[in-house]
Amino acid sequence: MINRKRILQAFLELIAIDSPSGQEDAVAEDLQRRLAALGLEAWQDAAGNVLARLPGKGDPVLLSAHMDTVEPGTGIKPVFDGDDIIRSDGTTILGADNKGGCAVILEVLQSLSEDGASHRPVEVAISRGEEIGLVGASQMDYSAIRSKVAIVIDSGGPPSDIQGQAPFHYVYDIEVTGRAAHAGLEPEKGIPAISIAAEIITGLPQGRFDYETTGNVGRVNGGLVRNAVPDLCRIEGEMRSMDRLKVEDLVARARSHVENVRRQHPEAGIDAQFTMAYPGYELTEDDPAAQLLYPALRSLGMEPNPHPVGGGTDGNVFRGNGIASIVIGRGGYNQHTKDEYLVIPEMLDCARVVEAALRG
Ligand SMILES: [Zn+2]
Repeated sequence: MINRKRILQAFLELIAIDSPSGQEDAVAEDLQRRLAALGLEAWQDAAGNVLARLPGKGDPVLLSAHMDTVEPGTGIKPVFDGDDIIRSDGTTILGADNKGGCAVILEVLQSLSEDGASHRPVEVAISRGEEIGLVGASQMDYSAIRSKVAIVIDSGGPPSDIQGQAPFHYVYDIEVTGRAAHAGLEPEKGIPAISIAAEIITGLPQGRFDYETTGNVGRVNGGLVRNAVPDLCRIEGEMRSMDRLKVEDLVARARSHVENVRRQHPEAGIDAQFTMAYPGYELTEDDPAAQLLYPALRSLGMEPNPHPVGGGTDGNVFRGNGIASIVIGRGGYNQHTKDEYLVIPEMLDCARVVEAALRG
């Protein structure tokens, strides 16, 4: 049975281990040790994600969370606010995103093993670098994963809060190579990379195009010193839409604009890479992940409440790798802020729902 005291203890122990994105080694070792202690075969793949498996009956289910947290996330000091809410002390995030998800997975496995009742085979994937662009999920060793369906425990709100729709997401990197020259003595010998990059930037899709389509130039980096014609400038941007055709149309427009600038500046080198970071999806009732989770929610008196989200999670990457994924709430609020807090009964409900789904 899901145990409140035990899941809370695991949660508090996990947030006591600092793990901002890129510094996950300590928490990865801790998670691997905990999974092994629960009787799972547990290991880290080449990208440092913690993977584990537990035999069972029927088709396997992947349980997933991420181990990294956003900044400011070192030296987290949890504060109880009444019996049911945990906050940070206001100087850091709390880290319920996503130590809450990790604690849910550990508690579900603990409960399954002590009850001894039959359950589906379970695979576990706890990723690194989720918050800095789904890095761990993108580099995960999918050859080790058999599941065709996943529960990703990484959303805010109660477990009935489900990410029901996510956008197609394209990212791009554009590099303009010019030629350096002294800006005062012989500027005509230079090829000004920043100025050419500026012509590119003004024609790239930025802002909101409609209710489901957006674009952004997020980072520009170029030049070395004030008095030299810059020989290099890099641009990083992205485009998203719930509708694949709309985002592909934006990509096509961006590409053709870059081509125009290239024609006007044959003296410069322009390298543009557009890549789909992950595919979007819409969760319908007949989706395998919905069919796994919706009955579990309803059996516990909760009605699924799918809603669109603008951001990506590991679930998007899993879908890109052929694993139907559902992203559910684990009781967190105000994520990515110092006001982040966790509603303990909702985290417990999340664990109960996941357990019910595995018992099937
Ligand atoms: Zn998260």
